[in-house]
Amino acid sequence: MRYVSTRGQAPTLNFSQALLAGLAEDGGLYIPQTWPQLSADEFRQLRGLSYPELAAKIIGLFTGNDIPQPVLLDLCQQSYAGFNHKAIVPLIQLEHNLFVQELFHGPTLAFKDMAMQLLGRLFDYVLSQKGQRINIVGATSGDTGSAAIEAFKDSKYLTVTILHPYGRTSEVQRRQMTTVLSSNINNIAVEGSFDDCQDLVKAMFADASFRDEVQLSAVNSINWGRIAAQVPYYIYAALALGAPDREVSFTVPTGNFGNILAAWTAKKMGLPINVLCVASNHNDILTRFILNNDMSIQGVKPSLSPSMDIQISSNFERLLFELLNRDANQCRQIMQDFRKNGKMDIPDLLWNKAKESFKGLALSDEETKTVIQNCYNDSLYLADPHTAIGIATAQKYRSKDVPMITVATAHPAKFPDALKQATGILPPLPLALADLYDRKENYQILPADLQKIENSVRAVILKNNF
Ligand SMILES: *Cc1c(COP(=O)(O)O)cnc(C)c1O
Repeated sequence: MRYVSTRGQAPTLNFSQALLAGLAEDGGLYIPQTWPQLSADEFRQLRGLSYPELAAKIIGLFTGNDIPQPVLLDLCQQSYAGFNHKAIVPLIQLEHNLFVQELFHGPTLAFKDMAMQLLGRLFDYVLSQKGQRINIVGATSGDTGSAAIEAFKDSKYLTVTILHPYGRTSEVQRRQMTTVLSSNINNIAVEGSFDDCQDLVKAMFADASFRDEVQLSAVNSINWGRIAAQVPYYIYAALALGAPDREVSFTVPTGNFGNILAAWTAKKMGLPINVLCVASNHNDILTRFILNNDMSIQGVKPSLSPSMDIQISSNFERLLFELLNRDANQCRQIMQDFRKNGKMDIPDLLWNKAKESFKGLALSDEETKTVIQNCYNDSLYLADPHTAIGIATAQKYRSKDVPMITVATAHPAKFPDALKQATGILPPLPLALADLYDRKENYQILPADLQKIENSVRAVILKNNF
């Protein structure tokens, strides 16, 4: 399996190279050269598999010869062994033909663990094979940082520096990052906003001499490895509800368009998916596109569902590339104009094509709280704010004959304030995290100053004798 850049000016890579590279050199995103295909019979043969077995089969179609299949199976089994639920991705029925697939039973209680737990192990395997070491830097508004730290905390082959905005993440989110005391983990609270953190990460990648000096790498959701690791749960849920002999639909609470791109990938592979619904909060660039062909950047306003507070949905570029019949020149041009003008010009023909697969809905914070309350009253289900937006979207777009599945992206205990306000109930943290508030924290507070941040990355590398 080979990977090409959506902008057509970077070398074609195999899976492990694309994994370590993250972003392509030309600013594009790596995407498989061709989509692996499964026939109806091949889907039927997957029906009896456990989640890790299914995951290894599906992800194996993307890793090709890079990772031997028995190794991949072993890594998948390890990745999901620490989950708090025996089913790993349990399917819960809320209403007739309306289901929730819970993706939050991993160590940090958000769906990011589904991919990140495997990514940590894949990085270690590939780096140990190549005898290479790298250093990961990333910015987080909460969930990505904790999932990455949890997944990479025991690696001998890499260090992880995560920047979070000082005082602007929830306490649960901060503690999940800062109570991991491994020597290869470096937490920095930046005196600034999430955008400042992201700008500092971009500045480190743009600083060529620093980038080469420290072998920089990234694990944000533009990494194809993360998308690949998110495809299996869509197939697993669909098989449980009758696919491939019956269509299913999915709703995905989305920010960076990563998770829903994985669902769309499953459709490309042959899974009979009827519609894919994008669920947004008031930062609604994606739903504005789907409903009105309006892909214009507006300022980010904080919401009850902070993991979807995003201005630009990076992974959309992969869909665009495909809508353009893989014309990389045109894709590059549209993306460059988008950066310049803050608005993406998408021909109506392509927009209509996108609308055949995607629906969208955006909810305000007030509406979100009402949905949380109604879900609890109607089905005794406690949904976190991200999932609640998904449930409302699923209710709007479901049809009589096709099962609709919303993916639940965070555990309700991650957002205690919103849950308390909406239902009067304070959902308890799972046992594994019950002592989170008593654990010792370690992080440094630094100004948004590139030199100081780079020196901190150098210090953690030195400490680990790389
Ligand atoms: C990251 C995240 C999302 C958004 O996922 P994308 O892949 O960026 O679309 C939604 N909900 C939660 C809880 C998240 O952590």
